Amino acid sequence: MKVVRTIAELELEPGTGLVPTMGALHAGHRALLTAARHENDRVVMSLFVNPAQFGERADLDAYPRDEARDLEIAEAEGVDLVFAPAADELYPAEFATWVEPEQAGGEGTARPGHFRGVATVCLKLFNVIRPERAYFGQKDAQQVAVIRQLVRDLNVPVEIRAIATVRDDDGLALSSRDVHLSPEERERALGLPRALQSAVGAADPVAAARASLNGLQPDYVEAVDLGDAKVLAAAVRVGSTRLIDNVLLEGEIG
Ligand code: AMP
Repeated sequence: MKVVRTIAELELEPGTGLVPTMGALHAGHRALLTAARHENDRVVMSLFVNPAQFGERADLDAYPRDEARDLEIAEAEGVDLVFAPAADELYPAEFATWVEPEQAGGEGTARPGHFRGVATVCLKLFNVIRPERAYFGQKDAQQVAVIRQLVRDLNVPVEIRAIATVRDDDGLALSSRDVHLSPEERERALGLPRALQSAVGAADPVAAARASLNGLQPDYVEAVDLGDAKVLAAAVRVGSTRLIDNVLLEGEIG
């Protein structure tokens, strides 16, 4: 497995599958890597904690990082090349052009500028790696919708693949941020998937989920229309950790 840190070292190859990540890899990322390995001749994983998609500096600084472990996992998953640039490789001092998705609601409203950062970095990754396919997790369902819209609107020649959310046995969606949860917080965090799951099929899923959040404070609980699908999405804070999750209400994200 090759690790490169500059755009100049990236070699373009047909049949490439790209898995963009911010590292602190877990079984959710591994599911994306496994799918990419099955469907492509070559797998590239990007490892980049994208400052542009974080609002608060403290959140960016607190984001878990363990590159040595991430590289071991990537190697075990059969990744051919890891692209792990420093921030100024993707955002040099003179950087001045942004992709501005119009996605509103849910994460778009709760984290102003978040999807602008996501869309901009993903378009840059598509341009420098030129993958045939790129893999994203349904855990970030709105992100999948934003990237699909970007690819349609800007005619980017890449197929977007969405992979089902990987959960722990107790139902908690795996997240890099889980490492910040104390055992007691982790137990409380289970209220999020349970509330969402219990609301599926209710006459008013938003009200039903809100009512069963068990004291967890939501940033939002919303039915978000993603075009081909509708999801019930929520973000909660457990201590200082912000967690998001969603369940499908209608249609398909795949
Ligand atoms: P991140 O490193 O958190 O930016 O995530 C990189 C990719 O992995 C994104 O496309 C996420 O949606 C996806 N991902 C994160 N957690 C999970 C999960 N529990 N199940 C499936 N995909 C996930």
